[in-house]
Amino acid sequence: MSYSYKGTELDAHLPAPEYVPTRPSCGKRSGYVIHRQRGEDACVPCMDAAAAYQRAWLASKKVAA
Ligand SMILES: [Zn+2]
Repeated sequence: MSYSYKGTELDAHLPAPEYVPTRPSCGKRSGYVIHRQRGEDACVPCMDAAAAYQRAWLASKKVAA
C-alpha cells in the first residue's frame, strides 16, 4: 500500500463544508433520517439532533425497564 489510511475519526474534527445544513428539516431528527435515506452523511446539526434523540430514547428505556 502506498497511501496512508485516513480514518473517519481523524477527519471528524476537520472543517467539512459539506456538513453545512442545507434543508429546512436540518437540526431535527427527521432531518437526520432524510440524510440517511438519501445515502448522505448527516450534517452536524442533524447528527446532534439524532444523538440527543437517541440519548432521550435510551434514558426512557432505562426508566421503563
Ligand atoms: Zn442536516
